Amino acid sequence: MDYGTYFFTNIATVTVFTVCISLLAWYNRRVRGMRWFAAAQIVGLIKLILQGMEGKAPVVLTGMTANEIYLISFVMQWIGLRWFVNRAPLRQRRLWSLIVLALAAYTIAFFTKIPYIGNVVNIPFLTICGVSVWTMWKYGRGPFKMIARVTAIILCAQLAVAAYRAVLTNISYERPWQTVLAHNDPRWLYSLAAAAFLASFMTMCELWFLVTELQQELAEQARTDPLTGALNRRSMEEAALRETARCIRYGHVLSMIVLDIDKFKHLNDTRGHAAGDRALQALVCCVKLILRQQDLFARTGGEEFAVLLPDTTEMAAFGIAERVRIAIEELEIPFETGPIKITVCAGVAQLDPACSWEGMMRRADAAMYQAKQHGRNMVATQNTPPKSSKTALSIPSESMQTV
Ligand code: GH3
Ligand code: MG
Ligand code: MG
Repeated sequence: MDYGTYFFTNIATVTVFTVCISLLAWYNRRVRGMRWFAAAQIVGLIKLILQGMEGKAPVVLTGMTANEIYLISFVMQWIGLRWFVNRAPLRQRRLWSLIVLALAAYTIAFFTKIPYIGNVVNIPFLTICGVSVWTMWKYGRGPFKMIARVTAIILCAQLAVAAYRAVLTNISYERPWQTVLAHNDPRWLYSLAAAAFLASFMTMCELWFLVTELQQELAEQARTDPLTGALNRRSMEEAALRETARCIRYGHVLSMIVLDIDKFKHLNDTRGHAAGDRALQALVCCVKLILRQQDLFARTGGEEFAVLLPDTTEMAAFGIAERVRIAIEELEIPFETGPIKITVCAGVAQLDPACSWEGMMRRADAAMYQAKQHGRNMVATQNTPPKSSKTALSIPSESMQTV
């Protein structure tokens, strides 16, 4: 393998990768990690072109600038990787200040021709590699776990190759800043090929990250209601089946609240559909604040919602429903044409281990309709009469049990 052929094939491959990653980043702009990957690829390609001109262009370009650019591309790659596994905001200004410092130190050291200069750029490079491995290992969870592990292994290999090349450059060659002298050294050439192989592997991982992210987005869309962000009916049914089986198996209790907005059609007719939509969104935000993390909250129809409460008795569920009702009653939803007020009726039921969860939902639904019939803005169960802050009407429990 000669240096020229190696560089020609490598630049051709990396160009194809860079175009693909950049186009994918463009068409998936909301996936911010992908934008960082594209930036890292572009910068990496520039570095490769500069490196390929070694011997034909000044060493300040083919050596110093190429090395500095390589470091920048690794930092960009790390920001991209971090975005996929940890969405917490990053203090970018501080990070880039550190990078500028490292680059300034390298530039000064390069021009002063200090021995073992290659190490100056290699230390920040190895550090970024190490931080990337740590980020993958610490934050790679859930669907990103596998890809994060694979990426960490590739990064470790990249770290090892870079460390080997740093030692080789600084120990074996008299003038390490002029690696043109090393072009005929198989150790130099094959370690360069190993670095290129790992970089290609890394590009495949970037695509894997994007695919995983898109899969997650699709799964989320299939699970949730686009207007309110609450779960949709299908995922509620799946969760109800799962929870019912779990509760029956372990002898736990399970309850359900069914909610329906009162006179919602009237709100739509008088204030417009946009006001209705706003009310639905506000209701979901309000209810989510009251529920616990393990509770499941879904929009089961137009202005109808259901809450599944694991390990909760009917009495406790009744208390929660009452809190929800009061919170919604007190809610003042801001809207362009003036605040919106809504109320809800809620029906509560507990799982009967002899019946399915559908039976529980039917009973909660029936209780909710009883509340509707008794004046609205009320909570009812099979065994508790409909209740509002103003009235507490008595419903014969037999009338509920016929449901
Ligand atoms: P009740 O108190 O008896 O529940 O009366 P209601 O008007 O709330 O019930 P009804 O079933 O008569 O009307 C429900 C309305 O909900 C009708 C429909 O236009 C409206 N709706 C359904 N989905 C949406 C939606 O996504 N956005 C908006 N703005 N309205 C919706
Ligand atoms: Mg309604
Ligand atoms: Mg309804």
